[in-house]
Amino acid sequence: MAVPTEDKPTILLSLSRMNHILDINAARGTVTVEAGCIMEILQEAVAAQGLVFAPDWGARGTATVGGAVATNGGGLNVLRFGTTREQVLGVEVVLADGRIWNGQRALIKDNSGYDLKQLFIGPEGTLGIITKLTFRLHPAQPYVRSMFASLCDASRLMEFLTMARSLGGEKLTAFELLPAREGARAVPCPETVVRNPVGLVFAYPHVGPPRRWRDTDSPFRSRVRDRHHL
Ligand SMILES: Cc1cc2nc3c(=O)[nH]c(=O)nc-3n(C[C@H](O)[C@H](O)[C@H](O)COP(=O)(O)OP(=O)(O)OC[C@H]3O[C@@H](n4cnc5c(N)ncnc54)[C@H](O)[C@@H]3O)c2cc1C
Repeated sequence: MAVPTEDKPTILLSLSRMNHILDINAARGTVTVEAGCIMEILQEAVAAQGLVFAPDWGARGTATVGGAVATNGGGLNVLRFGTTREQVLGVEVVLADGRIWNGQRALIKDNSGYDLKQLFIGPEGTLGIITKLTFRLHPAQPYVRSMFASLCDASRLMEFLTMARSLGGEKLTAFELLPAREGARAVPCPETVVRNPVGLVFAYPHVGPPRRWRDTDSPFRSRVRDRHHL
């Protein structure tokens, strides 16, 4: 959401009508979309075809894909998929002098010449207005396991991440730390109440039917419960 500055004249540009999903190519695993499309709408459209648009964060319901690329957002899935930059195959940009720069590509293996599109990913609109994008998509996983754990000792955080990686491998999608407020004694969790001051949530897709996490799986003395999302 753009906010006008108070100290100097400002132009606000809305791309909300440039919101069309132009092409979902399931076989190639790509989608071409106008820059004003809301992230969540794109996520839902590709999910209907068994595909995943990887960038995801709390503002998904208002953020446009153009804004996601202009800020190179990281978000919840960054461990597995990298920042938004990793998902961009092609861009179309309107430059300051009105010329249209066509950097639209849909090739996953495009190793030819300079990769000029990278200039427009992350600079927050200072080099041009992104109008069209092509993203790579990923196959949806049949199961996702998400777990909530509590650690008695935050110094073992990295050790815990290593363990989570050993479980999920490259498919470990998210690993979030929920520090408790000072004095807090309980963090509510869907299946249990965790009484320790540091909470962690991590998630990874896996193949095969869900299985219940056992505390014996963990070298940590933590209470761990899992939920299954099908
Ligand atoms: C540097 C930066 C990094 C961020 N990283 C994260 C993150 O990792 N995780 C997270 O949850 N949130 C992140 N955010 C917040 C993120 O910007 C918003 O959640 C959302 O993605 C912005 O989308 P929007 O459409 O609302 O863009 P706006 O808020 O309207 O714009 C954000 C910026 O992008 C520019 N911009 C927007 N659309 C275009 C376009 N079509 N062409 C060119 N420039 C455009 C704007 O000029 C502005 O500078 C980040 C924000 C910034 C500034």
